[in-house]
Amino acid sequence: MTKSYEAIVVGTGFGGAISACRLSKKWPGSVLVLERGKRYELGSFPRTPHAMARNFWNQGFEKRSRPKVVANIEQSGLFDIRNYHKIDVVLGAGLGGGSLIYANVFLEPPDAVFGARWPQSCRRAQLQQYYDVCKEVLGARPVPQPFEGRRQIVRTQLFQKIAAQIGRDSQLVDVNVFFGNDFANPLPIGVQAKNRYGALQTSCTYCGECDVGCNYQSKNTLDLNYLFQAENQYGAEILTEHFVDSIVPLEQNGADDRSASGEHGYRVYYRDLKHGQEKLSAVAKRVVVSAGSLGSTELLLRCLDQNVHGTLPRIGPALGKHFSGNGDFLAFVVGTKAPAEPNYGPVITQRIDFNLFKDFVPDHAFILEDASYATFGSWFAEAAKPGFLRLASFWRFLRHLGARLRGDTLGTIGFAFADLLGDDLSYKTCVLLFMGVDKSNGTMTLGNSGWLDLDWPQNDSAALYDAILAAGKEFKRQTGGDTFVALPNWWLPFRKNVSVHALGGCVLSDNPQDGVTSAAPATFGQVHGYPNLYVADGAIVPNAVGANPTATISALSEMVAHGITGIAPTAAL
Ligand SMILES: Cc1cc2nc3c(=O)[nH]c(=O)nc-3n(C[C@H](O)[C@H](O)[C@H](O)COP(=O)(O)OP(=O)(O)OC[C@H]3O[C@@H](n4cnc5c(N)ncnc54)[C@H](O)[C@@H]3O)c2cc1C
Ligand code: SF4
Repeated sequence: MTKSYEAIVVGTGFGGAISACRLSKKWPGSVLVLERGKRYELGSFPRTPHAMARNFWNQGFEKRSRPKVVANIEQSGLFDIRNYHKIDVVLGAGLGGGSLIYANVFLEPPDAVFGARWPQSCRRAQLQQYYDVCKEVLGARPVPQPFEGRRQIVRTQLFQKIAAQIGRDSQLVDVNVFFGNDFANPLPIGVQAKNRYGALQTSCTYCGECDVGCNYQSKNTLDLNYLFQAENQYGAEILTEHFVDSIVPLEQNGADDRSASGEHGYRVYYRDLKHGQEKLSAVAKRVVVSAGSLGSTELLLRCLDQNVHGTLPRIGPALGKHFSGNGDFLAFVVGTKAPAEPNYGPVITQRIDFNLFKDFVPDHAFILEDASYATFGSWFAEAAKPGFLRLASFWRFLRHLGARLRGDTLGTIGFAFADLLGDDLSYKTCVLLFMGVDKSNGTMTLGNSGWLDLDWPQNDSAALYDAILAAGKEFKRQTGGDTFVALPNWWLPFRKNVSVHALGGCVLSDNPQDGVTSAAPATFGQVHGYPNLYVADGAIVPNAVGANPTATISALSEMVAHGITGIAPTAAL
């Protein structure tokens, strides 16, 4: 028998987790949450090479072109990496969505970002109350001060010093990381405690592995707050490894009817990936689509297209428009004079402003953030180092070996290792994470395969990327670094951007010509033409925000949930 709910939520990223929590509080025990990815318990994020190779998202039924190494294994892993025209996009799949692999930054963008594309109902002033609630729930705060002992993060201090040298404003950013419940008195590193919602967390160990999943539950991921409450307090039914295929409106007697308006609810079709992709369905009075910018847009495009499902024919022509990569640009400075130590501390700790927060310049408003990466990345870099770079180490190794064979240095193998690793590439490497306000004019359509395609008119945002490259080269000069190098995707002949901050596709608007979802407060986030069908996630963001976007995605999603439930949100959940 088909089960019936007050609401079905698709996806468990920021939009989905907030919707799941708020709607299940309104309708306890009557909300179904469907997530395509896996659930990750304490300590369960993969680390071995074998497990890492299986930590990607690749399902054969999705007709996507993926590199062979990924495409050869049917898997439901954490990383969904997509290759499109002029841009690659990285997404998270799992209970908690992008929060499982994100770098924890909670950053409210400046007023200047809320320009002409933003409906009046959801500009900065209207969103402030929602930003405040999300910030409290997600436990956003800067890394604890002072930088002493094990709390010292060398790279943060290096970035601060360079910002001062070039006369740019630098600030610590708020990060959604657990250092204990009392912000003024952090728990010692590694000590465990329950957070305010009852989930067990560990005071951050500074291991630098935030982007591959935190095995200590120190990141305030969504499964430890919004989703934790939805499931444990309000009885939301959360099914992981369940992929949503389509949404069909119902007629008065409850039968599927693709010509129906949606006022009698919807049936959601999904497949159980754990059990032979068994096809299932459930019905609900309302549906919130929160599959992320690409996921939500793709699901609705497939429901609109007569050659695929054709079940939601009234969705307007703006679907798929205004994609933004949020100006993302990743680069490195190698061989800095002073140590950078990029393997220690939460992944991002501070930002340097380049005309985003101060003296806003629309064509090149961006920020630069520092980044750490997992220690095994450094070992990998050592192993992958070109032979000529390893030559010096190799000769030293032979020297030690010779001495050892002669019996000169018996017992000094430890020193030999120290000498061998003395040229460690990572120790003096800075990771530069740039993001800014791009033109937000990418277009998502269905390709011939019936799955998402994306066109990024890169040249239109050239002024931004040029300014970012200039800032990166200046950073190199200031650190006395040997090399400034962008991520290989940017090298010719590829010249591709990479974004971890996909936005747009179902943007908010006052009318169906300009966007897909309603910006009117009473129906905020509702798909134009379809009552009780909502989108709440990065897809509804009208324009690049320049700052890391989850604060804004979360605030907008709280506003959608407020409209649906009529309950003003508080951090008490
Ligand atoms: C490496 C990395 C670092 C980042 N760092 C930061 C940061 O520090 N600060 C910041 O603000 N942002 C950061 N981001 C971006 C941030 O993670 C995203 O902006 C955010 O997760 C988007 O939230 P969302 O709700 O729109 O969608 P998502 O978080 O992407 O959630 C969508 C969910 O829907 C699920 N889904 C998709 N399709 C289906 C389907 N058909 N059926 C069922 N489920 C489906 C997905 O598996 C996913 O769980 C980072 C991203 C990455 C990849
Ligand atoms: S640095 Fe990141 S991954 Fe490591 S414990 Fe802290 S939050 Fe978790």
